[in-house]
Amino acid sequence: MFNNGRTMHSARTRLLSKRAVRTKTETVDMTAGWLRLALKQAARSPCRYRVGAVLAKGRRVLAQSSNRYRNHPGVDFRNATFHAEEMILRRARIPKGAIVYVARVNNAGVPMLARPCSRCQRALTSGGAKRVFYTTAAGPRLLVLG
Ligand SMILES: [Zn+2]
Repeated sequence: MFNNGRTMHSARTRLLSKRAVRTKTETVDMTAGWLRLALKQAARSPCRYRVGAVLAKGRRVLAQSSNRYRNHPGVDFRNATFHAEEMILRRARIPKGAIVYVARVNNAGVPMLARPCSRCQRALTSGGAKRVFYTTAAGPRLLVLG
């Protein structure tokens, strides 16, 4: 009887740890997937620095965009842009638990540093974002806002 109880306990522990591992792997896969989508958006950008952003909650994408010109570069030499983060803030509210993914590509299609600028960090924070994953040349990084 005592022995039986112990076996059950260890079986349950094994089950729990297996699930924990799977969840972690799934999260890593999802982060990579959303960053790939952000990279795809970045590749569509008309700007010199090509940046894309994705707002996602779990498996659901809530908004995605590249950075864009505010005006036509042929009309206004200043070439002001909406940053990709600003674009997604214009398109969606940030619900609790949603994560922002920001990516930049160079002309060779290689991911580059895409850490949100201080203006976007402030805007994202006041919009309710808590976590931002961004690309760097050495791999993705997490930025915790607050
Ligand atoms: Zn910015």
